Amino acid sequence: MTGTTADLTAMTGIEVPTGLLIGGQWGPSRGGGVLSVVDPATEDAVAEVADASAEDALDAVSAAHQALPGWAGTPPRERAECLRRAYGLMMDNAEALARLMVLENGKALRDARGEVSYAADFFRWYSEEAVRLDGAVAMAPSGANRILVQRQPVGVSVLITPWNFPAAMATRKIGPALAAGCTVVLKPARETPLTALAIAALLKEAGVPDGVVNVVTTSSSGRLVSAMLADPRVRKLSFTGSTEVGRLLLHTAADTVTNCSMELGGNAPFLIFGDADLDAAVEGALLAKMRNGGEACTAANRFYVHESVADDFTSAFAARLSSLAVGPGLDDGTELGPLVNEDTRSKVADLVDKATSDGGRVVTGGRAPDRRGYFYLPTVLDQLQPDAAILNTEIFGPVAPIVRFSTDDEAITWANDTEYGLVSYVYTSDLRRGLQVAEALDAGMVGINRGIVSDPAAPFGGVKQSGLGREGGHDGLLEFTETKYVAVEW
Ligand code: NAP
Repeated sequence: MTGTTADLTAMTGIEVPTGLLIGGQWGPSRGGGVLSVVDPATEDAVAEVADASAEDALDAVSAAHQALPGWAGTPPRERAECLRRAYGLMMDNAEALARLMVLENGKALRDARGEVSYAADFFRWYSEEAVRLDGAVAMAPSGANRILVQRQPVGVSVLITPWNFPAAMATRKIGPALAAGCTVVLKPARETPLTALAIAALLKEAGVPDGVVNVVTTSSSGRLVSAMLADPRVRKLSFTGSTEVGRLLLHTAADTVTNCSMELGGNAPFLIFGDADLDAAVEGALLAKMRNGGEACTAANRFYVHESVADDFTSAFAARLSSLAVGPGLDDGTELGPLVNEDTRSKVADLVDKATSDGGRVVTGGRAPDRRGYFYLPTVLDQLQPDAAILNTEIFGPVAPIVRFSTDDEAITWANDTEYGLVSYVYTSDLRRGLQVAEALDAGMVGINRGIVSDPAAPFGGVKQSGLGREGGHDGLLEFTETKYVAVEW
């Protein structure tokens, strides 16, 4: 099947290349190995893609290196137009891409549809940013010379993406990299290679020259990525994934002093104050917890609810969660699909079991349904103590632990008591209080009376061990540039 296309058209409406994309050519891995892609709703293999080795990855680095001068020298307007065409092609193929993503990731089709348009928007946003890479000219304080500052592409970039947002995490990196004039090697997660391959095919169709975007799919990420990071031609690592793997890669990148942007794990607190609009808080909580079935770095992981409204919030939220339609993502009406694999589901089940033995009360859910596929029921756990283990772990599933608080300071202290700092959510009807709390929270992003913060035009990223750098907005473009200062006397 590799080297050609997988006939997934019956299920998704799109033909997907299954080989590696190196220097504009689709082909098998050097060793000819393949890896299977599994549908989490049925546990059946749906396709096979090429299983790249470290040698294949170095071929991809060579292709990206060779294409770099041409792409960096392409007028920004032309680079922008390639990205704009890619945006159009993604939107033209939106339904097929969404169905493909459901097939390999399991998420509900409505989540997948939302992701495709969010993902495509990174191409549109960065097509607009490509022509706005400003520099600066200033007089040196001594008056002796001018200080000229310009932004140049950082160079060959290795992009590593997770399985939870297979489209958006790829376009959030490819968009700014190409806009800045960099060439890339994308390594998607082994669970979800098909979406990345389909997007690469659309970029090719959009006129992106050979070698500018290369894709290597693999079952040996560690070896393959180490080989690329040891190669001095690679000047940038842009990684999205767990904090654990991020730490490891920072160590590896140190050997070649490779520029790193890291989007890592989260443990988002969701604070509901006594004056909050509870209906809005329930809807926001639903979005923050259940988008992508809870498999999101931005997922609300801990609910801190003021004691005066805790009973009302808990019962309304549990009622809303227990009414969600659970089923295969491709079925009409499904609101919650399966988790991505068995490991993820058993981790979620273990966390819930431990939380109940720590004194938590299961209000709804608390178990896997009796059916095929990696499903877990939407779950609300109440009466947790602030030191319960589940509050210190990224759950990555449809489980909402609730802790009651009595003072604002208590809520803020508990919310900040984590090594992570990606996003926090605050519900209050007093905007002054909301802004004060937002300032006090250790997080790269805060949603006030909003259960979703992601926006291609906004700087997305975390503090503490949630990451380094920002993606999206103008900041995302700068991550793929180096600053050059020229002292000029004239
Ligand atoms: P992961 O296990 O860290 O994997 C992320 C990527 O790294 C995958 O492509 C994976 O490939 C690769 N990888 C794994 N081990 C590696 C190694 N030793 N060397 C090089 N690459 C390696 O994370 P995940 O389970 O896929 O994704 C979930 C995590 O991503 C969560 O922690 C979530 O919070 C985080 N995330 C963060 C953001 C953000 O913007 N901050 C966004 C989305 C997700 P293989 O899987 O093929 O080995």
